[in-house]
Amino acid sequence: MAIDFELTGKMKQARDLAHMFAEQFVRPYALEADELEGPHPRFVEACKQFGLGTGHAGAMVGAGKGKDPAEGEKRAKEQNRLMLLASEELAWGDATAALNMPGPGLGGPPVQFTGTPEQRARFLGVFKPDEYRFGAYALTEPGAGSDAKNIRTTCRKDGDHWVLNGTKIYITNGKKAEWTVVFATLDPAMGRAGHRTFVVEKGAPGFSVPKVEKKMGLKASETAEQVFEECRVPADNLLGGEAHYEQAGKGGFKTAMKTFDATRPLVAVMAVGIARAAYEIARDWVREHYALAQHTARYHRLAEAVAQMEREIHMARLLCWKAAYLLDMERPNAKESSMSKAYAGGMVQRVTAKAVEVLGPEGVLQHRLVEKLYRDQKVYDIFEGTGQIQRLVISRRLFERA
Ligand SMILES: Cc1cc2nc3c(=O)[nH]c(=O)nc-3n(C[C@H](O)[C@H](O)[C@H](O)COP(=O)(O)OP(=O)(O)OC[C@H]3O[C@@H](n4cnc5c(N)ncnc54)[C@H](O)[C@@H]3O)c2cc1C
Repeated sequence: MAIDFELTGKMKQARDLAHMFAEQFVRPYALEADELEGPHPRFVEACKQFGLGTGHAGAMVGAGKGKDPAEGEKRAKEQNRLMLLASEELAWGDATAALNMPGPGLGGPPVQFTGTPEQRARFLGVFKPDEYRFGAYALTEPGAGSDAKNIRTTCRKDGDHWVLNGTKIYITNGKKAEWTVVFATLDPAMGRAGHRTFVVEKGAPGFSVPKVEKKMGLKASETAEQVFEECRVPADNLLGGEAHYEQAGKGGFKTAMKTFDATRPLVAVMAVGIARAAYEIARDWVREHYALAQHTARYHRLAEAVAQMEREIHMARLLCWKAAYLLDMERPNAKESSMSKAYAGGMVQRVTAKAVEVLGPEGVLQHRLVEKLYRDQKVYDIFEGTGQIQRLVISRRLFERA
């Protein structure tokens, strides 16, 4: 297999544009957004001003295929790596910015993978460059997150509608979303075969959002509970249409898992962005405070700790790139995707903890970004599948092939 670690011109452009945006419109407002517990108005304004309302990476490299079909095809083959590069930079600025970047978010991949052409146009068409709009993805329920096949939200057909009943929890952008991709079951006793995937639009009868959670980290990102009580959804909102679910192995469960293959490396690379921000703070601190003490044992221990941070960040990034590369090549990546998430989730915890340690008491003061990074990182080993679940996926894949 050919190995090429060089970034293409488009990739460098995506990374540099995202970094510029993060430096000017994200990092300077990160601590204020944390206090506001929502996106900073200046950041929202910048998203609209630069027309980022259709999803960040696409917009930053110039969405659409352009005039040259060969160029468009090449870009499509790099799309996941482009998203990765942009996401690391945004998370370096502030992890919540990557989650507050307008667009379909985690709801995008299921609509792309499973939606009919009409559904893709209808639901993705909601996102306009100069508007600050969101989609959401609702799988987790009380008692079913890690154990996704056990969802209890039910769906039943009633004339030209479906009727949904159940509760979804911890849904990112679940209150402000224009629509949410919701996973439900015809009957829990049917297991995976009973799963169906719907798009529930804001304002659907019987749909409510009773609660927005308070969290220790990622405070500026909205995490909401969604309730469906005899919620009526037009039959046209069943993703893929009924025929899709008649084919073997095409249930809603498959859609949920395929989404994770695409989004886990993206979430993992956000952890890389957070870790890189912490590493830079620790590195600069050591440079500044020990400039005249480079002969001391203390300096050497700290410098070594900073070098280890860099090494771990680099390893996590390579795992993310490999998973995204396989996705771009339309090759299976479930194992690699879980490897990137499992490693990055632990790595970001070690690196941010070490950065706080390097700064000593200064590291726990709220006006220092490193304190926020330490709080923000924890979720990266929880959402999109916990570290334990990623390790289970990896071991299952390994022994499946043995
Ligand atoms: C900030 C935030 C945003 C989120 N956004 C979304 C979203 O947009 N959409 C969505 O659908 N969900 C979202 N989630 C939910 C998240 O994906 C789940 O909470 C997560 O996958 C854990 O699942 P759970 O809630 O069932 O926890 P549990 O599975 O109950 O986890 C509790 C503990 O048990 C461990 N555990 C569980 N099963 C096993 C096992 N078989 N072996 C070993 N250990 C195990 C877990 O690793 C964990 O340590 C979000 C969560 C958070 C915190």
